[in-house]
Amino acid sequence: MDDIVFIGDWIKDRVLGSGSFGIVVLWRHKDSDEKLAVKTCKWADELTAKHRERWTKEVEMLQSCNNPNIVGTRELPPEFVSGLARANPSRLPILCMEYCSGGDLRQVLNKPDSCCGLKEVQVRKILSDVGNAMQFLHHNKITHRDLKPENIVLQVPIDDPQNQAKVTYKLIDLGYAKEIDSNSVCASFVGTLQYLAPELLYSKTYSNSVDFWSLGLLAFEIICGTRPFLPFMAPVQWMPHVKKKAHENICVYETFHGDIEYSNEIFPENRISKPFKKFMEEWLQVALEWDPKLRGRDAPSKVTFNIPTEEKGMASKVVIFNLLQNILSRKIIQVFSITTLTHLAYEINESTTISMLKMWMHNDTNILPQDQIVLSKLNYVDIGDDEPVVKYWNEISGDMLYLYNKKQILEENVAPLVPKAVQRCLEHHKALYNFKNCLNLYKNGLYFVMNQMDIYDSLVNGLFVIAESLKNRSSQLLLKHNTVDKASGKLLAKEELMTSMIETGKKHVKHLRENNVGINLLGGFDEIFKETADTAEKIEKLQTAWSQLSRRLQSSARRCTEGISNDLNNFIARNNYQNVFINALKAYKKSYNGNRERERQCPEIVKFCYDCLKLRNKILHELHHQQFLYKIKDLNIEIPKIADAVTNAADNVEKLTNNLVTISTKLTNCIWSTISLVVTDPQNVAELPYSVVSFEKKDFKIGESVSNHCFKVANKMEDDSLKSLITESLKLRHSHINLCEKLTSQQKSLKKNMYDFSFLNEKS
Ligand code: ADP
Repeated sequence: MDDIVFIGDWIKDRVLGSGSFGIVVLWRHKDSDEKLAVKTCKWADELTAKHRERWTKEVEMLQSCNNPNIVGTRELPPEFVSGLARANPSRLPILCMEYCSGGDLRQVLNKPDSCCGLKEVQVRKILSDVGNAMQFLHHNKITHRDLKPENIVLQVPIDDPQNQAKVTYKLIDLGYAKEIDSNSVCASFVGTLQYLAPELLYSKTYSNSVDFWSLGLLAFEIICGTRPFLPFMAPVQWMPHVKKKAHENICVYETFHGDIEYSNEIFPENRISKPFKKFMEEWLQVALEWDPKLRGRDAPSKVTFNIPTEEKGMASKVVIFNLLQNILSRKIIQVFSITTLTHLAYEINESTTISMLKMWMHNDTNILPQDQIVLSKLNYVDIGDDEPVVKYWNEISGDMLYLYNKKQILEENVAPLVPKAVQRCLEHHKALYNFKNCLNLYKNGLYFVMNQMDIYDSLVNGLFVIAESLKNRSSQLLLKHNTVDKASGKLLAKEELMTSMIETGKKHVKHLRENNVGINLLGGFDEIFKETADTAEKIEKLQTAWSQLSRRLQSSARRCTEGISNDLNNFIARNNYQNVFINALKAYKKSYNGNRERERQCPEIVKFCYDCLKLRNKILHELHHQQFLYKIKDLNIEIPKIADAVTNAADNVEKLTNNLVTISTKLTNCIWSTISLVVTDPQNVAELPYSVVSFEKKDFKIGESVSNHCFKVANKMEDDSLKSLITESLKLRHSHINLCEKLTSQQKSLKKNMYDFSFLNEKS
């Protein structure tokens, strides 16, 4: 088919892959740019009748499967039948499929950065998609029998190709699929050896539980980057060892010294969170059960094959898919602890609060809950203790929270986590390694470097997040500052008015006193004058403090916005693992070369791991002395202090404003009371001023507010009407002065003449 380049309006793009029977080619429509993956059989006469039947069956089966996780088929453009006649000598049906642009899972696993498995988001998505496809097939009584990474292709979203969580994984190649169900048995030998369930090799019969085994193997491989059972051996070699494994064992491996070990755990060199690892270990026990009759079922003690019909109800059930769905639906929150440079993860539910999370994190990091700051990229706000954690959990992106220690952003001398194999190699750098150990070592070395890069990445992100949150907090604070500033301006204006009013009052009172008039009535005013003076003094102090606080806040806000992110970017540009990573990658790629029979030293790994450790120390040491880190540290202490001070100032402004209102009320009351006293008893005015005193003489104490002794004057003035109130009061004060003057002259005349109270009727 090499020479066929065009068929009608279709252009041959490239060969996507070639398996044992088929060849898959990508075709592109020249106008619409539509893409099709077209699979033809590459053999002709060599095919047996069985092969022909299998091929035809695959095409038919794929065409009948309608599931988002099984590759979709398309109608073959009619011109392809004749156009591909030469390329399809067998005349077997041509399979026309949707094109999945992300390659197959084997290609993903072959990438060096997958050497110790894929990230949790990817693992989850693969398990969810492939689990769904397998469940669909089993539901339709189809056993795939050939599940392996090569048979899973990636559909990458065009609009967001980098988003791992949006990739759809699809099963292709149902070439070995057979319609059987869980209780029937099938007797033909099929499949690709390494992923084959053991019974396909040693037993004449098998059921659809062969797919559980392959699914378990696939799950282990995407998590660890390696198959669980002696991956360097051929199936005939590993089977006797694996057969001996206990139900709990999910992994059989060869140690550095060549001993065979059995383990219940996933290798520690992986990229998934602790809780997810724990769940998957339990699930893998079910999937990798040696006994096919017990595999994938809920009660390994119950045997479901050949049991009498009357006991069928007791039979165990296939739980493997539900179990997987259950695990995938659990919510795990990821937190990166900046201070201890560790990735933390916890299973949460709707009722988990931040304060519960803080307790768990305290156990893992020793940071006291009250010293913890938890921030999220979502809003850069210090998350409150009562908030539900689930608000910050995201199934799609696997985003995380950041944990900081209020007392110490970065801890000094945090020891790195070095894989055992790397540790041994660094300690015995001239040791000789056989091919297997050598590969394992390079894998672990590369993983170590990638892990350090990942931690550095999270650390830098965490520093950006706290810098952003400081910026955020300072701008919030500026807003609050402006509100308080306005209130404080109003307070000053009120105080000015009040002072001028009081000054006038004082002059008059002084005048009255000098003239020895109404002395007994003036005690209340003195008290008000004193209160006003006290308040004025407090306002002055507050103003001084406020302007200092404003300056401090302006400077902090400037420091928050100016430079932290820039400096951090410059720091990353100068300090990164790029070169170490490139060297590690080169060394890793070379690790497959050379004589596989001979033992050899691994100087490259010693070098790149040593370089990595040195660089890590340098980066952390320099970070401690960076201006931006000092800034973050200082501002992290200063901003909350300023916030407290601003709140305090706001309280004081309010209190003093209330004080002024109270004083002005008192003053008005006092003025009105005095006037009321005078005007409500014109008959007794003859005795003025003594009559005023004698009017309520029984209770009156000198210095006491006169208002206590006269009619209550409605005086509930609103804050806003204070100004008019004051003007009113000033007018009243004015008429009051006139009144007093008249009273004084009356007092004089009283001593010798007739009384004349006509002035009381005068309009003021
Ligand atoms: P065979 O049955 O001969 O093994 P496969 O169907 O497994 O052939 O396809 C071989 C390779 O072609 C796959 O591993 C994959 O890389 C690629 N391939 C198959 N189908 C598609 C598709 N629809 N889109 C993209 N690539 C595909």
